[in-house]
Amino acid sequence: MVNAVYLHIPFCDYICHYCDFNKVFMQGQPVIEYLEHMDSEMERTLERFPTSSINTIFVGGGTPTALNEQQLEQFLHSVSTKFFPYTEEGLEFTMEANPGSVTPRKLEIMKKYGVNRLSIGAQAFQNSLLKRLGRGHNVDEISDIVTMAKHAGFENLSLDLMFGLPEQTLEQLSDSIERAVDLGITHISSYSLQVEKKTVFYNQWRKGELPLPTEEAEAEMYSELIRRLEAHGLKQYEISNFALPGYESQHNITYWKNNEYYGIGAGAHSYVDGVRRANAGPLKQYMSRIDEHGFPYVDENELTKGEKMEEEMFMGLRMRQGVSKQTFEEKYGTPVESVFGEQIEKLVYKELLKDTGSHIALTEQGFFLGNEVFQEFLAV
Ligand code: SF4
Repeated sequence: MVNAVYLHIPFCDYICHYCDFNKVFMQGQPVIEYLEHMDSEMERTLERFPTSSINTIFVGGGTPTALNEQQLEQFLHSVSTKFFPYTEEGLEFTMEANPGSVTPRKLEIMKKYGVNRLSIGAQAFQNSLLKRLGRGHNVDEISDIVTMAKHAGFENLSLDLMFGLPEQTLEQLSDSIERAVDLGITHISSYSLQVEKKTVFYNQWRKGELPLPTEEAEAEMYSELIRRLEAHGLKQYEISNFALPGYESQHNITYWKNNEYYGIGAGAHSYVDGVRRANAGPLKQYMSRIDEHGFPYVDENELTKGEKMEEEMFMGLRMRQGVSKQTFEEKYGTPVESVFGEQIEKLVYKELLKDTGSHIALTEQGFFLGNEVFQEFLAV
């Protein structure tokens, strides 16, 4: 049964130099037509794959707050009409929001439709780094959006911070962390820069014009991130995520627990009835597929039991608590050790995994070498 919804708004006011998400520069795009197609996709999805309860809704992008006030109202009206009949008290309703693209009126609209968590794309607290990343906002606008959001009554605020950036120093990262914490946020997601193909950074990297920190320097940044955030009471509950107690992202936990979710919008992915589906990414293709076929899928993959168990491990191990042995057995009808005993034993010996009795989880060292651990569970 699906209890989570992801909705994708692919429009951005600017294109960042590192970004390979499914997004388009907003100007001149058929926004209303796109929102109407999302509305159809929501309706048809619920008809074809009914649910009785929705616990989390997450609107990502792109930049959802690039929508103007009218578009935002139209979109949130659609979402509430379709999904609110199934939501219960305690719904976590997150929208990604970029500094510089939010107004008090937009926040008011979000509140009106039940949005209760903002995920703010801050990335860094140095204007030089923001410029290097191609972000279209400055440091003052980060403080402004937090102040506006609090004023509008939002208290569950997450901030994204990046590390491993070109010419970023440890001192700059430490300063960003302290300034984020000073703003009184409840959650931080922090990822190291990955240089992806088809980005400005990829071209610079190929030409030798992207001075990235060494692996050692990046590991030091990650260590500092954990140390400082934990010191401020933001507990690392997943490899890249930190929260005050009770503010962990319930939506993302759905992914890490390998539970099912709807994915609505261009390029969105979904996992329903054991089938992973991918929607068409380009806007025109997304809309014409809905018009012609009813659904925008370009890929459908029914997972085998083996694949599901692998995913359960490498997604679940991202969380500090790890994979629950009892849940694994309930879901797959067999103890985790009977499927992955060899891998677990090997990784426990290497001190990258630990067996707590109830869970299999990463050790402190394992958190730094996650990829080495996850690979062991692929294609057993
Ligand atoms: S705002 Fe977000 S989605 Fe848009 S280009 Fe930048 S990183 Fe990508």
